[in-house]
Amino acid sequence: MTTTHDAGRSGDGATAAVITPEGRTLPGYDPRAPLLQVEDLHVEFHTRDGLVSAVNGVSYTVNEGETLGVIGESGSGKSVTAQAIMGIVPAPGRVASGSVRYRGVDLLRLKDDQRRAVRAESIAMVFQDALSALNPVFTVGFQIGELFRKHRGLRRSDAKKRAVELLDLVKIPDAKNRVNAFPHQFSGGMRQRVMIAMALALDPDVLIADEPTTALDVTIQAQVMDLLAELQQERQMGLILITHDMGVVADVSDQIAVMYAGKVVERSPVHPIYRQPAHPYTQALLRSIPRVDRKGTALDVIEGLPPNLAHIPPGCSFNPRCPYAREKCRVDEPPLYDVAEHRWSACHFWEEVMDS
Ligand code: SF4
Repeated sequence: MTTTHDAGRSGDGATAAVITPEGRTLPGYDPRAPLLQVEDLHVEFHTRDGLVSAVNGVSYTVNEGETLGVIGESGSGKSVTAQAIMGIVPAPGRVASGSVRYRGVDLLRLKDDQRRAVRAESIAMVFQDALSALNPVFTVGFQIGELFRKHRGLRRSDAKKRAVELLDLVKIPDAKNRVNAFPHQFSGGMRQRVMIAMALALDPDVLIADEPTTALDVTIQAQVMDLLAELQQERQMGLILITHDMGVVADVSDQIAVMYAGKVVERSPVHPIYRQPAHPYTQALLRSIPRVDRKGTALDVIEGLPPNLAHIPPGCSFNPRCPYAREKCRVDEPPLYDVAEHRWSACHFWEEVMDS
């Protein structure tokens, strides 16, 4: 991998350090530490409506070569968690507490320039709306090449060659010529491939894809997901795949984190969660996936709306929408119960849900 952070232990056994492109070192780097570890993260927004707790104690880990699917409706906090990892929480939001560790380095404690260096080299993000993420007045080749010129010091001609290689990698036909095209000359699916190419340019260890296929039709969605999965396997990256659709992540994820009202309400390896969900919200999300064997029948919807995050209901935040809810749910906030090997659910009645 052509990163500028040197993994390895120093001779005296001390923790080695990340070397940024500027030659600075980041203390605490440990190549044996998990690739990315989010712990008890809280992000809040001060609004006219009051304090909005958009992310409320989120924890998850992503290892190399592993895909974590993060699922939930709009406003569940999944994208804000990703923004906190990247250090791009928009104002008036702020990370109130918690940690985001990349190989042991707490990104939230870094200075801005150190943070930018890690973000440029090690953690990349693909956004939902490729058209607004790309600059309309520059060719895609120029925009990809800019990364190589800025971060690798390549000459313009060499940077363009690398841009062609990357467009080839993401399977854009006729890459040699398409490198000179502008973003509006690409279809939605091809633009998303360009975004993936840009995200991969500096060979990141972690890729965060935030609803990467939402704006695409179903066949193109599948192609882009296949491409992401293939590249992730090839490069052994950690991939965080954010979506509201459990159908999209079923085939490509290793782990699933289901989020509701700023919290992870269920965490599980992928297969058990689809076979036997342990939280009523996960169950409801699964029932809302369109199925070919139920042609002609109405799709199940999740009754009610997610809560206003400035006024989260007491007890379990899902209780106003939950068919299993009873008095305890309106009073006691459920912890994450250990429900099986590597499985957790924030539901007081998880056994009943799993048996249903
Ligand atoms: Fe439903 Fe109660 Fe479980 Fe919350 S704790 S998900 S309200 S049964």
